[in-house]
Amino acid sequence: MIKNVSVIGAGTMGNGIAHVFAQSGFTVNLVDVNPSQLQRALDTINKNLDRQIAKGSLTEEQKKTTLANISTFSVVAEGVKDAELVVEAATENVELKLTIFEQIDTYAPAGCILATNTSSISITKIAAVTKRPGMVIGMHFMNPVPVMKLVEIINGYATKKEVTATIVELSRQLNKVPCAVNDYPGFIANRILMPMINEAICSLFEGVAGVEEIDTVMKLGMAHPMGPLQLADFIGLDVCLSILNVLHDGFGNPKYAPCPLLVNMVLAGKLGVKSGEGFYTYTAGSKDLVVSERFR
Ligand code: NAD
Repeated sequence: MIKNVSVIGAGTMGNGIAHVFAQSGFTVNLVDVNPSQLQRALDTINKNLDRQIAKGSLTEEQKKTTLANISTFSVVAEGVKDAELVVEAATENVELKLTIFEQIDTYAPAGCILATNTSSISITKIAAVTKRPGMVIGMHFMNPVPVMKLVEIINGYATKKEVTATIVELSRQLNKVPCAVNDYPGFIANRILMPMINEAICSLFEGVAGVEEIDTVMKLGMAHPMGPLQLADFIGLDVCLSILNVLHDGFGNPKYAPCPLLVNMVLAGKLGVKSGEGFYTYTAGSKDLVVSERFR
């Protein structure tokens, strides 16, 4: 039975992953090389727990227990030394992840399962830099982690069946719904989502319709809670581009080629919510969805 979990990376995803494990009674070591990110993560978790209390889904006592289950570390070697499961959620960069996995493999106990929350990097490639490729697996949480039910579980080429079964069961303990898939570019979530987003951007690029029309068709016509252009802004246009490049390179199929408009927007630094402008503009404190001037 897994009890001690280390989460590497305390950014958007890492803080959410630490939150759900701690709330489900696991002992969590949250590790980030940037101490200010650790403080920011604890503040975010605190705020999100308060939101749950306000909604009546959590008690003050449960909040206290959840926070007490989390310790923070800035050195990977120390943060993983007693781990039974490591979930890596550091920046989406292949070289960085390979270095982190070499480190975790060196310092985590022999029986420890090593999971990655990567959106697109090959699990098989990551596993190959460790001495335990059978114990390496993808555990792809969705953003925001405390809210979204899905965990896409990705079996690398060498992942052992027992390891998959353990992670499936563990995801259920977190009150999530696990879906196991195999390790090919984009897995399932992004292989299907990113071509849809790319096609929405191509439709805009070709002048078939405007931003609001494209998003409204998909929201009202397909019952999507958010249109594909708004979703792209939320995910980050740089992230969308990098996943499309992974699909394009991985399959060698031109159908995955990123739309030139997406490439240009990323070059221009229009990355969506995080940069304040993408298909829409984002002003701190305002919830209004305003189409960017460029597309009006
Ligand atoms: P982020 O930029 O918010 O956070 C990344 C964190 O990693 C930062 O706090 C950074 O300081 C830390 N970090 C960098 N190098 C490190 C190291 N050597 N050791 C420890 N920590 C280190 O990124 P994010 O959006 O949370 O994404 C994290 C992972 O989750 C990525 O692999 C991404 O593809 C995946 N993911 C993201 C989303 C999303 O919507 N943001 C959704 C699903 C999966």
